[in-house]
Amino acid sequence: MLSYRKINLLFIALICFILILVLLKTIPLYFVFILLFVYISILSYGVVFIKANFYLNSIQKLKNKNQILLSFDDGPDPALTPLILDLLDQYDAKALFFIIGNRAEKFPAVIKEIQARGHIIGNHSWSHHHYFDFFSVNKMIVEVERTNELLQQILGEKPLYFRPPFGITNPRIRRLVEKTGMKSVSWSFRSYDTKSRSNERIIKKMRTDIKGGQILLFHDTIPRTYQILKEILPYLCKKYNLKSKL
Ligand SMILES: [Zn+2]
Repeated sequence: MLSYRKINLLFIALICFILILVLLKTIPLYFVFILLFVYISILSYGVVFIKANFYLNSIQKLKNKNQILLSFDDGPDPALTPLILDLLDQYDAKALFFIIGNRAEKFPAVIKEIQARGHIIGNHSWSHHHYFDFFSVNKMIVEVERTNELLQQILGEKPLYFRPPFGITNPRIRRLVEKTGMKSVSWSFRSYDTKSRSNERIIKKMRTDIKGGQILLFHDTIPRTYQILKEILPYLCKKYNLKSKL
């Protein structure tokens, strides 16, 4: 599989080779620019697609193909998260909740309820800042550890799992994960509940595309997520075991 380290080594070898050929006037100079373009395109792909595991390895699937795991980002929400918790209870489903620290600080009772219902709580940064991916490693660590410390105070234990905000990864996110000792978790099915697709289209896609062993991505801050789950959970519950905890 492509990785940041392998691509860098390959790029260095190729650029040296091409530069020699350019100096020998065997090939024109624009070959250097073509190589640079390809290199930057591959790096950008790795940034945007966490599923590529390009900069770091993230858990994106379950070993057991009879199971699927629901995950929820960006909460807690004082109104929607409890509704979703009730719905999950109805279907005996367990989920992963990647919470934002500054929201957990405002709604600690919801965080306690998530834990009390047997779900896993993960870290999704303190601020979910739009430019989180551009922060220095130290600033990222402060965000993640502040959230971990708050969760330790509320729950009596620190989370093990981290999901990078916006699913963006880069070399600094890799160092963040290494230095904090957390495990990065991505997903293998995105519901697109934050986008403008209709509920019907999302539900149809879920019925056709979801496969055993997948981790599903939702947001417990979007009102329609509850409606989508209400529609799809009876179907998912019949086909898969929803009790996985990773
Ligand atoms: Zn998020």
